[in-house]
Amino acid sequence: MQALLDRITGFILQDVKNEKETKDMAVLLRMSCMIFALYYLVTGTVIAFMQHYVLGFLTIGAILLLITAFICTYEDHTFISLILVNAVLLVFSILLCLYLGFPLQFQLPLFLNILLVYFNKTEHMMLKRFYAVAIMLIEMFVAEICDAFPFQADPAYGFRIFFQTFNMMVFALSLLAISYCYCTKFNQAEDKLRRINDNLERMANIDTLTGLSNRRHMNEYLAGLVFEFNRSGKTFTLAIGDIDFFKKVNDTYGHDTGDYVLSTAAGIFSRFMSDKGHVARWGGEEFLFAFENADMEKAFRYLDELRRQIEKTPMDFKEYHFNITMTYGCEEFNSRLGTEATINRADAKLYKGKQGGRNQVVR
Ligand code: GH3
Ligand code: MG
Ligand code: MG
Repeated sequence: MQALLDRITGFILQDVKNEKETKDMAVLLRMSCMIFALYYLVTGTVIAFMQHYVLGFLTIGAILLLITAFICTYEDHTFISLILVNAVLLVFSILLCLYLGFPLQFQLPLFLNILLVYFNKTEHMMLKRFYAVAIMLIEMFVAEICDAFPFQADPAYGFRIFFQTFNMMVFALSLLAISYCYCTKFNQAEDKLRRINDNLERMANIDTLTGLSNRRHMNEYLAGLVFEFNRSGKTFTLAIGDIDFFKKVNDTYGHDTGDYVLSTAAGIFSRFMSDKGHVARWGGEEFLFAFENADMEKAFRYLDELRRQIEKTPMDFKEYHFNITMTYGCEEFNSRLGTEATINRADAKLYKGKQGGRNQVVR
């Protein structure tokens, strides 16, 4: 049973081959064809029971046309299918209204035509508006004709109640199906867009090798710190750290070992900074640290702790086992200087540290 259901679902949801056509439209038309073929089957049978055989017989024509429209969606002719479905609903709604009377609600499927046409992917918006207005005018015109000329058959009370209920039910169900298709499509598109946006934002902010923030993201973060500094005087200290003799690591053990060192060190940094501020990859093997709520002394103590942690972390990659050291320069933020000059001062201190023997923090 489940396998049969899956096969039917797969058959209805089958994609279109022509890239100019959309799968959504084809699926919607297939569902509409099935719903309305069933609708005309029931309507035709009941009409035959009312002994209006010609009209009952005509509904077979509607069913055949809907079957043709259904097949067209598999032959890459969704536009022809759309026209066929529209034509069947238009002709038969008018015919049934005129014959059995307006109060029986046979005009309702006509409103679905508008939705179907609007769902179709085309740039001719003006044509769609024109069509919607035309449908409304037709409905009004049919109502007036039904009122003016009492040439309709006069169905018995039971048949009247049946058709009113049945027409409204089919209309409501079709509306539900179309709305469901549209909502699902809309929500899926929005989810996809959100995922792509998140991904793009991540790509724009994150350094792929280390997973740390890149320079662009750090600059945004620093702007936030400066804003807070100006608003509430919350002090912060910036530091630049640079791996010592990193070129030697690359030259001795290979570039992939160098990459391993960068990402291992980055992991240590982000764990260390998680409750202290933020860290970013500032350049090749240079990292910028921002210590929030920390003056120079506090940041110095943190950095020296980090320096010792890095120094004693074994780097084990392939058959290589070694240790690295880093040198840091730090500078407390000063509103007279601004961030750029603060970073430059930290950089100058880093240079001093390199000159002074490396593996140290210069304040
Ligand atoms: P110092 O102690 O003075 O900082 O010496 P150093 O060798 O670390 O400095 P130098 O600036 O001469 O070399 C930095 C090296 O970092 C050169 C470059 O090839 C390497 N590098 C930069 N980015 C990457 C990267 O993403 N991966 C790897 N493996 N190496 C990188
Ligand atoms: Mg270096
Ligand atoms: Mg460097």
